[in-house]
Amino acid sequence: MNEFELIKHYFTKQLVTRKDVLVGIGDDCALVQPAERQNIAITTDTLIAGVHFPHNTSARAIGHKSVAVSLSDLAAMGAEPSWISLAISLPNADEAWVSEFCAGVFELCEFYHVQLIGGDTTQGPLSITVTAQGYTPIDKQITRSGAKAGDWLYVTGNIGDAALALRYIQGEIEVEERYRAALQDQLDFPKPRILAGQVLREYASAAIDISDGLAADLSHLCQASQVGVNLIVDNLPLSEALFDSLPAEQAYQLALIGGDDYELLFTVAEDNKVGMETALANTGVPITCIGQLNSSQKIKTLLNGETVCMDLQGFEHFSLSRV
Ligand code: ADP
Ligand code: MG
Repeated sequence: MNEFELIKHYFTKQLVTRKDVLVGIGDDCALVQPAERQNIAITTDTLIAGVHFPHNTSARAIGHKSVAVSLSDLAAMGAEPSWISLAISLPNADEAWVSEFCAGVFELCEFYHVQLIGGDTTQGPLSITVTAQGYTPIDKQITRSGAKAGDWLYVTGNIGDAALALRYIQGEIEVEERYRAALQDQLDFPKPRILAGQVLREYASAAIDISDGLAADLSHLCQASQVGVNLIVDNLPLSEALFDSLPAEQAYQLALIGGDDYELLFTVAEDNKVGMETALANTGVPITCIGQLNSSQKIKTLLNGETVCMDLQGFEHFSLSRV
């Protein structure tokens, strides 16, 4: 199969068709007609084999993850996803692989009513770049920079499971058999927190999705907002699998620096705390309060009420100083 046959047979086979897409795949550009009184949030991410996912990852998981990481960025802004573009570089035209890859892409697109509106297909080392776009009502976006001293810091879901799965695959940490399938699923099929993000538009002062690890992404948020935080390490939401695989302090440490969680880290002013907790309880998305912001511009980690020195990998690259 050549490039054009691949596009025709696989990339145009999506079920979702949106009314705001005037021209989809097949012309020189896609043409969209955005809804009124909405801004468009736009994000791009590249996934490279061996860097962003292990070489033996299934094609379906790669398809899912390629879309999920970009939708997670939209979630962090409180955006409602609408369209994606997909630039893929493939070593060869392996039809079974492309078919499975597209199944992974389209499953997630269908779930969130997102249309693939274009892309590019080339031959080369396996690499995938997805640009995702979505709507935010005017003046309702959530940024990294809106957090204030006194706001509470929250995180959705559990953190550290994807990092544990990766370390298990790499032979670094032993994991009981009964946990393995669910952990692999966390690593391969992250679920972007789209619904939580949209609910948080009404309540959060700032948000970021956790892709590089909680500590690194927290430092991005703190730097953008010019705040610091007292991070209650023993409040971090860790799975039973993680607690059973490592001594507690090492489990917390992995949760701090491990990546690929795709949970939301967000801040809420005292006045919005109860409203936010009620609204998110209605969505069924679990959340945990893990600290409170201050004006120190430092990240202070506390364990059992005492200040502890934890490794906050990536931290040195940013301007916040260490406690
Ligand atoms: P051009 O040469 O004008 O850039 P292409 O031949 O690259 O066009 O692509 C033809 C059409 O197929 C375009 O609409 C493009 O957006 C779409 N397309 C190409 N590759 C992909 C892909 N991997 N996923 C989705 N659409 C694609
Ligand atoms: Mg092209």
